[in-house]
Amino acid sequence: MTKKIALVTGGTGGIGTEVCKELCEQGNLVVASYVPIEQEVAENWQKVMLEKGYDVKIEACDVSCYDSSKQLIDTVKEKYGNIALLVNAAGITSDKTLRKMEKEQWKSVLSTNLDSIFNVTKHAIEHMLEGNFGRIVSISSVNGTKGQFGQTNYSAAKAGIYGFSKALAQEVARKGITVNTVSPGYIHTAMTDRLPREIQKSIVEQIPMGRMGEAKEIAKAIGFLCSEGAAYITGANLHVNGGMHMS
Ligand code: NAP
Repeated sequence: MTKKIALVTGGTGGIGTEVCKELCEQGNLVVASYVPIEQEVAENWQKVMLEKGYDVKIEACDVSCYDSSKQLIDTVKEKYGNIALLVNAAGITSDKTLRKMEKEQWKSVLSTNLDSIFNVTKHAIEHMLEGNFGRIVSISSVNGTKGQFGQTNYSAAKAGIYGFSKALAQEVARKGITVNTVSPGYIHTAMTDRLPREIQKSIVEQIPMGRMGEAKEIAKAIGFLCSEGAAYITGANLHVNGGMHMS
């Protein structure tokens, strides 16, 4: 059977790495995108993945840039074929209370976390429409649902992903394409390691399960939504947060 092509933006990141492994284990050909200036880091990451038995392809892309995103999708098509599975995992934080937030912090977080979803999906959807099949999963956040002190930019961007996904889900529902979101709580990755220890401790105290999540636990949820078995799930959001927020 021919392998499906899966693209994971931010594929070399903490959650992205586990998503790449999961989609490889499902038998897909997986392409991970990385930030263009990080080529050496990405090549080393690729070597380590190969040593572990995961033959993941890598391509450079700044997902906050429309042209770079179009180039990524065209390159994947040229080298490997039409994309069937898309996981939008690239994202950043830049926290400050609104009064202290610079315009640049607002713009960079909105463009990397929300414009990126448009930039990449807009082009990848054409591949899926050609093939009458597609799975799109975008990573939002518990903080896009409940809001978070110091994150007006991040919470707005992550909330925007829900609206985008539910609207697109309706547009392509009859074309074999599903569009869903996964909203992680706090997960052990570089993104949360950057938080001061005392903040990490206070976060864990608010999680009913008493621990942060593991990237693999997010990857499993995404893997399910990408699978054939999730064909009737669209426009949905899956919370994976240890009980931190229930809705
Ligand atoms: P991470 O390890 O920092 O991964 C984020 C990835 O996005 C990195 O590979 C990063 O590349 C890439 N990226 C950043 N800016 C980019 C750009 N302009 N173009 C292309 N790629 C870009 O963080 P993570 O925890 O795995 O986060 C993955 C996703 O989960 C994000 O959308 C994040 O918002 C979301 N999330 C995470 C948590 C958590 O607790 N960790 C909770 C909720 C939601 P570089 O490393 O090269 O910059």
